[in-house]
Amino acid sequence: MTILERTIVPGCSVGILGGGQLGRMLALAAARLGLKCHIFAPEADSPAFEVSARHTIARYDDEAALAAFADAVDVITYEFENVPAATAAFLAARRPVRPGPAILAATQDRLAEKQFLNGLGLPTALFAPVDDPGSLARAVAQLGRPSILKTRRMGYDGKGQATVREGSDLPAVFRSLGGQPAILEGIVGFAREISVIAARSPDGSFAAFDVCENRHENHVLARTLVPARIQPETAASAIGMARQIVEALDYAGIIAVEMFVSLEFSQGGAPDREVLRVNEIAPRVHNSGHWTLDGAVTSQFEQHIRAICGWPLGSTRRHGAIVMDNLLGADAARWLDVLEEDGASLHLYGKGEVRPGRKMGHMTRIVREISG
Ligand code: AMP
Repeated sequence: MTILERTIVPGCSVGILGGGQLGRMLALAAARLGLKCHIFAPEADSPAFEVSARHTIARYDDEAALAAFADAVDVITYEFENVPAATAAFLAARRPVRPGPAILAATQDRLAEKQFLNGLGLPTALFAPVDDPGSLARAVAQLGRPSILKTRRMGYDGKGQATVREGSDLPAVFRSLGGQPAILEGIVGFAREISVIAARSPDGSFAAFDVCENRHENHVLARTLVPARIQPETAASAIGMARQIVEALDYAGIIAVEMFVSLEFSQGGAPDREVLRVNEIAPRVHNSGHWTLDGAVTSQFEQHIRAICGWPLGSTRRHGAIVMDNLLGADAARWLDVLEEDGASLHLYGKGEVRPGRKMGHMTRIVREISG
């Protein structure tokens, strides 16, 4: 039997690289469908371990541990996009890895990601590669100030970013990010930030949740509102862009595509035109899709498990208007209040140590309509 011919049925094992809250919520969804989960993560206190049938504590370059993990599971997925390319290739030779390793190459490097998106005809912020203070000076001359310098690799939640302002000392800004290869991005004047959470199966079926509107504080997602307050054509176009991306990659699993919505002023009383630019792709379940656990027929976690197992995708129908708030750091101390609130759902990730800004849990409210 080739690896593609393996059929995944209840009772089989799903391997997940990464043991954070995303792995934990994936494991819970898989368990509900009668699947077992095996988490592979280097950190001994990973929140996903306590809700999974098995776990392996090892580094991502430990080939003996990876080989034993692959032998023990039927399909492999991941909860973070920085899975080393060599790890993904090693595992893909033994078991199906979904989404496939090609998406990792396209999303681990901000320059490759933007080139991939522009190659599909999808608009992004203007950008220029930066490898040294000289190329930063040229990029700033092209894109102006303010602009944002971002490391090409390993950036998330605003880490690895620095703003170039009037008067900024360019060599100092470049050094502040460790002198690594980077890109400079022009600032996008946006009215809203949105994301599309969508799934594609190995057989090509596609299903998207309603578009989410996201508010960030200190570069970290604070609140998601669904549906996003955008025009229906803009929502359809955003979902169309996500579909183009997954088709181009022959993708399997949940993808999250973050976008900026800018307003172009229209004359003669017509509504302002909403213009989309793709900011980032995450080849995994995403924080802005957590509302689906309580607010949709199928959660993003279940949908991901269905997609990677080659099972039919579930309904993405929404139960109402949704507000999802992250519980960051000390917010989690409000857990009793959330439990007492009529209509609120609480999710805590079982993390021991509370640190400022750390994602400790989230809460979801189903409301009559989105306002404010
Ligand atoms: P990122 O890590 O690239 O998703 O950036 C984190 C947040 O910074 C985004 O969600 C935006 O709020 C803001 N941001 C990033 N890039 C830009 C940009 N080119 N123009 C305006 N805001 C940006």
